[in-house]
Amino acid sequence: RGKRAFIAGVADDNGYGWAIAKALAAAGAEILVGTWVPALNIFETSLRRGKFDESRRLPNGSLMEIAKVYPLDAVYDTLEDVPEDVKTNKRYAGSSNWTVKEVAECVKNDFGTIDILVHSLANGPEVTKPLLETSRRGYLAAISASSYSFVSLLQHFLPIMNPGGASVSLTYIASERTIPGYGGGMSSAKAALESDTRVLAFEAGRKGQIRVNTISAGPLGSRAAKAIGFIEKMIDYSYTNAPLQKELLADEVGHTAAFLVSPLASAVTGSIIYVDNGLNTMGLAL
Ligand code: NAD
Repeated sequence: RGKRAFIAGVADDNGYGWAIAKALAAAGAEILVGTWVPALNIFETSLRRGKFDESRRLPNGSLMEIAKVYPLDAVYDTLEDVPEDVKTNKRYAGSSNWTVKEVAECVKNDFGTIDILVHSLANGPEVTKPLLETSRRGYLAAISASSYSFVSLLQHFLPIMNPGGASVSLTYIASERTIPGYGGGMSSAKAALESDTRVLAFEAGRKGQIRVNTISAGPLGSRAAKAIGFIEKMIDYSYTNAPLQKELLADEVGHTAAFLVSPLASAVTGSIIYVDNGLNTMGLAL
């Protein structure tokens, strides 16, 4: 039987989530995605109109099929958590069942089980502010969208994950080294995500024989990264200073994710795997 993957955090064909979906599809997995509610319409329209057809192409020449796109807002666990102004917001009122609990229920009803859970989402409303200027609300929003969202997804999907399955998330080295400009509590959120990777690897390993790892990825000019404002500088910095002086491709992160969730990595759990051309190993740039 082929494996089934749910990938949270795909809303265009530029980010790591898309590249991971492609790598998993190329390896024969069935692909379900969770798309942020405000981005759902444009993503589905673009998909339908063939805007992504070139980037849907897999190494064997076929096009990646997405079995189903689920609306998702990973900062809400249940319908009861959703504030009135969001419920009635035009972009949200048009879809339903997009809280984490509801999405997991829908996936269960539609497909029964999954094997692979991918978390490729982050959001920090004050990311452009230094930590010293970040509000409590902005900091907690970053943690909620970027860290707890993974706890919640795993919590709700674990009961429908087949034993031997695996999950993977995306992190960034700003969790462990100071990266000026990656603000708003996003560095804190990634530190939480990495710590949670270890604790959840233990808990999900014992509870459901599920592996939990995270990929610490180098800089990519995704939509989310462009919102931070200095991504081109980070890409240039990496090119100049990393052991491997080459562009970092989203597909390279996709391939590593495919490895990590495959039986080839059956003894790897609770780990942070760097996919950054080796930049993290440098102490002094030359
Ligand atoms: P991206 O824009 O492709 O992905 C981020 C996604 O998160 C978007 O699709 C967005 O719609 C979604 N999202 C935001 N808030 C959400 C919510 N509340 N509920 C559901 N979805 C929500 O950008 P990306 O850079 O590929 O980001 C994917 C992951 O990779 C993130 O965790 C990011 O921190 C991480 N990462 C990115 C870089 C980089 O340089 N781009 C480096 C290291 C790690």
